[in-house]
Amino acid sequence: MIDNAPVGEAALAGPPLPPPSLRLGVDKAALAANWKALDRLSGSARAGAAVKADCYGLGAATCVPVLRDAGCETFFVAHWSEVPDVIAHVPGAQVAVLHGVSNQAECAYARAVGAVPVINSVEQAALWSTTGGGRCHLMLDTGINRLGIAPGEAGDTAIGGLAVDLLMSHLASADENTAMNRMQAELLGEAADAIPHQRLSLANSAGIALGNRFTLDVTRPGLALYGGVPREELADVIRPVVRVAAQVLQCRQLAPGDGVGYNSAFIANSHMRVGTVSMGYADGFLRGRGPGNALWHEARRLPILGKVSMDMVVVDLTTAPDLAAGDWLEVPWNIADAAQQNALSPYEMLTVLGARLRRI
Ligand SMILES: *Cc1c(COP(=O)(O)O)cnc(C)c1O
Repeated sequence: MIDNAPVGEAALAGPPLPPPSLRLGVDKAALAANWKALDRLSGSARAGAAVKADCYGLGAATCVPVLRDAGCETFFVAHWSEVPDVIAHVPGAQVAVLHGVSNQAECAYARAVGAVPVINSVEQAALWSTTGGGRCHLMLDTGINRLGIAPGEAGDTAIGGLAVDLLMSHLASADENTAMNRMQAELLGEAADAIPHQRLSLANSAGIALGNRFTLDVTRPGLALYGGVPREELADVIRPVVRVAAQVLQCRQLAPGDGVGYNSAFIANSHMRVGTVSMGYADGFLRGRGPGNALWHEARRLPILGKVSMDMVVVDLTTAPDLAAGDWLEVPWNIADAAQQNALSPYEMLTVLGARLRRI
C-alpha cells in the first residue's frame, strides 16, 4: 500500500487544498518490513530507528507511526527541534537527541518532555548533572571524531556521575570491510568495563550486517529503513520505500532550432513533442539529474531535455504521443541508481527530497 504524506497544518487552517501536482509516496508496508528485517538481523539486540532530518526526508508524521506499530521503541533525532514531531507519535517510547545538551534551556526541555540526551563531552555530562541529572545516553568517540567523549575520559568524575542507559559509539566505515570496524568495537567494549551503563549500542544500518560483535543490545538503523542499501548483505533484505510521481503541466510542439529551458541547454533538431513536468530542484530533483536521465510512464522512458528548473523539468514525449497535461509520470527514486547519476550518496538522495514535496 502506498500512502501519501498527510496534508500539513497550514492547509488545515484554510479551505481544502486542491489536489497536488507532485506526490511523495511512502510505502508503509515496505518501511515496516525493513524495520522488522533489521530488527531480526540484529539478533538478540533490539533495533531502534534513526528518525532525524524528518525521517531522512520522508516525513516523520508518516514514518514514525509506522515504525512504532512495527515494534520500534527507541527513536534517535539530532536536534531538540526535531523532538515534537516524533514524540507526539510515540508516547511511552524513548526519544534520544544525538546532539546532546549544550545549555540550560535544552536540559530543561529534555526533562519537560521526557526526551533523553546523548551526552557527548565531559562538559555536557557536568551540565546535565548540575541541572538535575537523570537518565541519559553517553556517546564514546572511537575514531569518527565528530561527537563523544574520548576513551581516556571514561574515568572522569563527571562521567561517573551519569545515569547512563545506552553507552554508544558510531562506526565510521561500516559500509567497508576495514580493520577500523573491529577496532571501534573493541574500544567500546573496553569502555563498557569502566563506565556503568544499562545497554550498549554501536551499529547503524551497515553495522547490523557486520554481525553480532556489532549489534550488542540496541541497533540504530536509519538509511536501510528508508530503502537505502549500504552493504551487499542487505540487498536482498531491504525493500524500496520511496515513490515519487509528478504531473505533466503542459505539452508543447518544438520546431527545429527551438531551445528548452534556461540557457537553451537543449536545442531541437527536428519537430518533436515535449512535456513540462511539475518537479524541479526545489523538490530535490537536483540539476545533476538533467540530460542523460529520464522520467517514466509505465515502461516508456522519457528523456529529460535541458536544465532542471526550480519547479519544472521538460521531457521528450516522442515515445509517448498519447500523454497529455494531467498525466502522471514516475520520477525514479531508486536510491542506488539515482545516487550514481547525481554523484550523491544515498543519504543525500533521501534528504534532498524537498520540503514542498513532503507537505503535499
Ligand atoms: C544517523 C545515525 C545513525 C543511522 O545511520 P545509518 O547509516 O543511516 O543507518 C546511527 N547512529 C548515529 C549516531 C547517527 O548519527
